[in-house]
Order: sequence, then C-alpha cells, then structure tokens
Amino acid sequence: MPQRVLVIGAGFAGLAAATSLADKGYDVTILEKNSMPGGRARMFQAEGFTFDMGPSWYWMPDVVETYFARFGKKPSDYYNLVRLDPSYKVIFSPNESIDLPAGIDKLEILFEQMELGSGLKLQEFLKQAAYKYEVGMNRFVWKPSRSVTEFLSLKLLYDVTRLDVFQSFATHARKFFKHPRLLEIVEFPILFLGATPENTPAMYSLMNYAEMALGTWYPMGGMHELVKAMVSLAEEKGVKILLNQTVRKIDVLNKKVNQVITDKGIFETDVVVAGADYNHVETSLVDPDNRNYSDDYWQKRVMAPSSLLFYIGVNKRVPRLQHHNLFFDEDFKLHAREIYETPQWPTKPLFYASVPSKTDPSVAPEGYENLFLLIPVAPDLTDDEVTREHYFDLIMNRLEAYVGEDIRSHIVFKRSYAHRDFKSDYNAFRGNAYGLANTLQQTALLKPSLKNKRVNNLFYTGQLTVPGPGVPPSLISGLVVADEVAKEFV
Ligand SMILES: Cc1cc2nc3c(=O)[nH]c(=O)nc-3n(C[C@H](O)[C@H](O)[C@H](O)COP(=O)(O)OP(=O)(O)OC[C@H]3O[C@@H](n4cnc5c(N)ncnc54)[C@H](O)[C@@H]3O)c2cc1C
Repeated sequence: MPQRVLVIGAGFAGLAAATSLADKGYDVTILEKNSMPGGRARMFQAEGFTFDMGPSWYWMPDVVETYFARFGKKPSDYYNLVRLDPSYKVIFSPNESIDLPAGIDKLEILFEQMELGSGLKLQEFLKQAAYKYEVGMNRFVWKPSRSVTEFLSLKLLYDVTRLDVFQSFATHARKFFKHPRLLEIVEFPILFLGATPENTPAMYSLMNYAEMALGTWYPMGGMHELVKAMVSLAEEKGVKILLNQTVRKIDVLNKKVNQVITDKGIFETDVVVAGADYNHVETSLVDPDNRNYSDDYWQKRVMAPSSLLFYIGVNKRVPRLQHHNLFFDEDFKLHAREIYETPQWPTKPLFYASVPSKTDPSVAPEGYENLFLLIPVAPDLTDDEVTREHYFDLIMNRLEAYVGEDIRSHIVFKRSYAHRDFKSDYNAFRGNAYGLANTLQQTALLKPSLKNKRVNNLFYTGQLTVPGPGVPPSLISGLVVADEVAKEFV
C-alpha cells in the first residue's frame, strides 16, 4: 500500500508538492477550501472579462521549465508563452515615462542615454547579477534549510562572499548608478521581495538578472493558465483534488498526525504537507503544544506588504499604457515608511496597473480593456469600503491624468479586494498578500521551518517557508518539501 499524503491547499506550492509526491508513488489528496485551485493565483470571469486575481508578472521562465521537465513535460504542452516588449512602462509624471525594452542591448542604450557610462556599468552589474542568479536559483533556493550543515561546504562559503549577502541592495546599486531614474528602475524588482532596497541583501540583484536578461513573459489566456497546467499534470499523476474542503483540525496522536478534519469529513493519513498560510496552520489547525513557533515569534515577523486591488472592465481602449505600468509618480520613501515603519494607509502611494488586454484579446470583449490596479499597503490595516473608494479615486485621478482621457465613466465592471478578502479567502496572516519580507533576518535557516519539530509527519510548504514568496519560489518550495517527505517516509 502506498503511503497516504494529505496536502492542505491547492496554491502553487501545494500543487507542486502533491504532483511530485504522486510522481514518487504516494497516494496524494489535496484538500482546498476554495471552489477553485490556484490560491492567490485564482481567476474570475465577469461581463466578458477574465481577471487574474493575483500574480501578473511571469518571471524566471526557467524555473517553470525545470518544474515541468521534472515530469517529462514542457510549458508549451499546456500554454503559449510570449515575451513582452517593452517589458514594462515606468511613469514618473503625466509628461514623463520610460518604456523598458526587452533585451540587454537595448537596455544598455537606454541607460547610456540617461547617464554617461551607465551602459557599461549595467553590463558589469548584470554580470554579477548573473552569477548570483546561478548560485541563488540553482543552489541556495533548493536547500530545505533544516540544518546549517547544508551551507557548510567551502564552495558555498566562498559563494556567500561573492553573493553580497551582507551588503544592502541600495548600497550596491549606488556603486553602479547615480541617476535617480535609473536607481528607481533597478530597485523596482526588489519591491517584489517585500522589503525596501535598504533592508534587502544585495544578493537579490539576481532579480535584475531575472527581469532584464531572462525577460518578462505572459501565458496567453492569463496567469491562471499556469495553474490549469499544474492541475492537469497533478491529475495526470493521480492526485485527487477536493475543492470546498476547509481544514478545521490536524489531529495528532503520539507525535504523529493520524487524521485531518475538514468541514465535510475526516481523512486518515500517513503524512501531511500544509500549503495553507503557515501561521494559520500553526495557530488554528494544530494544538498549541504542537506548534513550531510562539505568538511572540509571529508578532515579530516582518511581513511583505498586503495589497489593495481593483479589477476593472472598461468599455473602450485605454491609450498610452503598456501591459505592465508602474506609477512611480510619488515619493517612494514616504510610501515605504507608511508600509514598514509606521504602518498606515499611505498618503500618496505608488501603484501598478496591469492591462493584459494589451497583449491578449481573450481577457476582454473586443474593443474593451481589462485593468488590474494594485496599491502595495501595510498588512493588518482597517479595511472598509470608504477607504477603498478613497484610494480608487486617488489613483484614477493619476491614471486619467497620464492617459489624458476619462476612464471612470467607461467602467462597466469593478471589484475591489484587500485585507479582509485575503483573510477570508486564504486565511492570510495579517491579511498578507506575498508572505514574509525577504530580509536577511528572514532568509534560509531563519525562515519558518518546512518541518514541524514536534510532529514527525507534519511538513509545511508555500510562501511563508523556504525559499520565499513569488510564483517560482512557491513552485520550488513544493518540490523541496516533497523531496524531504520522500527522505523520511519511504
Ligand atoms: C495580488 C498579488 C500579486 C502577486 N503578483 C505576483 C507576480 O506578479 N509574480 C509572482 O511571481 N508572484 C506574485 N505574487 C505572489 C504569488 O502569487 C504567491 O507567492 C504564490 O501564489 C503563493 O502560493 P502558495 O501556494 O504559497 O500560497 P496560496 O496561493 O495562498 O495557496 C494556499 C492555499 O491554501 C488554501 N487554504 C488556506 N487555508 C485552508 C484551510 N484551512 N483548508 C484548506 N485550504 C486552505 C487557500 O485557499 C489557498 O488555495 C502575487 C501575490 C498577490 C496576492
């Protein structure tokens, strides 16, 4: 009889763990609370529009390829991936914006035009970033981070020095570039990591390599195509995905989980991999005696920002925008302070507008535009309709000022989403969107462990454990935990 594994949650990490374990011969069932798999990457359809609910930037296509290759597949077996060019637009004011072209050669020309000598500097910056990507993404992120011995080989120690682990990204970037616009451009990918460039190790210039060298991609049909592909592969491997099953309790007997209780029934098991938010599993599903971490530990974690989101359908085309648009037309330092130092609703936030209908006609009715607007905000804020509307007006004013046209009177669909939705849909700790911030103090061994220290057969996966937040790391997290399960439960 194969060992039975229950995976809690059908996000990227849960799906990856389940698929890998089924591939290794385990009898795997996923218990997912929502009516659709994908977790934060779910989608919904309304009024002829298809909205991706969470991720919109498809970066590190190599990680996704590695994922499918593990099972003898390719992304192209499931969806059509296109590279975006320009990769994205940065808007500094209604009259000043830059389109970032795809390809390093074109980026070097753009940099050189803005700051003399910066084209060559970009080459050197990216050469170092390429090394960090190679070491970081091919070795470090695949470590389960359960013991310091994993990092003790001489080669790795040597790598740590070249990886700039102890220098901040902000300091590192200023050794190469002086022009404030160029600094904003190279610091943008760091925002994905959920901490400021001052608090992020320079090692993460690997994100610049990912963005500038490997490119920004888009799966035609939407980001949810990746979820559909992963579900299809999981089912092909024999994974059973049970939707609308909210896990209420992980029952432990003699240091072993023996059953998992949902709102619909009781499931016996040999192993549990929890892919739901780590804090929720610890504080709501297992008894206090069996937790890895105290409440105090969780209170001290630095969370990545949450988000206030708007899904908007517009009954006309919106000019001047690209697929990805960053509104960097306010002071980032003030916004960052209001996220991290004195958490509060931001005074003048930066925001991001994704317009996938610029690339993909299938996500909006003909002649219409699909807009996804995102304001990064501190976790755990009081989230009510009045506040959401205030921010909607604020960013619409800026959006309309940039495109030079009225958009509001052309809106035919609108839905907002923020903290209270993250909590109710995903049991998200403090209503977080992207998990834990990638600060040095929350990296590798210092992240919540992927194994329960008191319960022998309880493992964790997903954006709150190793290696961290984002679609590629969540996939890796699932594969890493599956390998750890296989080491202990043959
Ligand atoms: C708005 C937004 C934009 C983002 N943009 C990007 C981007 O552009 N690029 C990128 O790479 N990353 C992006 N991310 C981050 C990325 O989406 C996440 O890191 C990733 O999807 C997390 O996957 P996960 O499997 O760890 O968690 P989740 O997707 O949260 O999956 C956990 C699953 O567990 C389920 N669950 C919770 N509690 C229970 C329970 N009690 N019982 C059963 N099931 C339960 C949840 O319903 C969910 O399906 C974005 C995230 C958000 C929110």
